[in-house]
Amino acid sequence: MEIQTFGVIGAGQMGGGIAQVAAASGLQVILHDIKTEFVEAGFGRIGDNLQRLVEKGRLSAEEKAQILGRITTSIDLKKMAAADFVVEAASENEDIKFKLFETLDKVCAPHTILASNTSSIPIGRIAARTGRQEKVIGMHFMNPVPVMQLVEIIRGLATSDETYAVTRDLTLKFSKTPAQSHDFPGFIANRILLPMINEAIFCLYHGVGSREDIDTVMKLGMNHPMGPLALADLIGLDTCLAIMNTLQQGLGDPKYRPCPMLRQYVEAGWLGRKSGRGFYTYLK
Ligand code: NAD
Repeated sequence: MEIQTFGVIGAGQMGGGIAQVAAASGLQVILHDIKTEFVEAGFGRIGDNLQRLVEKGRLSAEEKAQILGRITTSIDLKKMAAADFVVEAASENEDIKFKLFETLDKVCAPHTILASNTSSIPIGRIAARTGRQEKVIGMHFMNPVPVMQLVEIIRGLATSDETYAVTRDLTLKFSKTPAQSHDFPGFIANRILLPMINEAIFCLYHGVGSREDIDTVMKLGMNHPMGPLALADLIGLDTCLAIMNTLQQGLGDPKYRPCPMLRQYVEAGWLGRKSGRGFYTYLK
């Protein structure tokens, strides 16, 4: 199946990045969010990212204009009727994703593949909301999408071989490397990463070390490019908490309980970089 038009739901940090790589690969992209200001902000961030590449000499001004010219914006889900493949990258909330997939199943053409960029929610649970379970798959990009090489592909119980093959081919078209995970909460990436981040937050909570020392130990001691607290701020503390909740509920093991400090920060609206404050503070 040839994919020409690619839909992206959610114009936040992940959706914007996914739209950028899809448009850069030559696809027509429809970028959707719930409000005009959100979708315009997402489109603006793509323009800023591309401008930085122009300034570094890695993209011409003409290529930048061509990439942006392939992206149209939408606040009406019915526009997804034109898409051959849709990636949902809305907030990590089961109810939001369930409603989106129910609606997408109704508005999209029968051949359209519906993928989710969820960090942790089992694909089978999302697929069950549709009448096309064989065409539902997990396509989990890493943050920041234009930079990171990996796409984790998750097949639900009913995902067909064709859906998997199309998703794998798209990953390669985006110049990324696929890795396959079976359909368990958190898949491979976040089953391993998030308990480590959560443990780093427990270290801060228990006073084992300062935020700087915790991050320095993991950067210099384990050769991680970023410390776990800085990485949590990049991911978004709301997303980190949602993933820990999914791991705890889905796997039923108390070792996945979120650190109370993580919950407290999210309740205070300290979501990391996107809100300007998390474990560190950021200029907005
Ligand atoms: P974000 O908060 O930056 O963006 C989420 C966007 O979804 C917002 O613009 C919001 O307005 C929009 N949205 C909410 N409800 C919607 C709806 N009903 N319809 C359309 N849009 C809606 O979050 P993000 O970091 O981009 O994460 C998005 C998804 O990607 C989540 O499922 C997350 O788990 C996953 N993910 C995140 C990361 C990361 O590092 N942040 C990495 C991989 C995957």
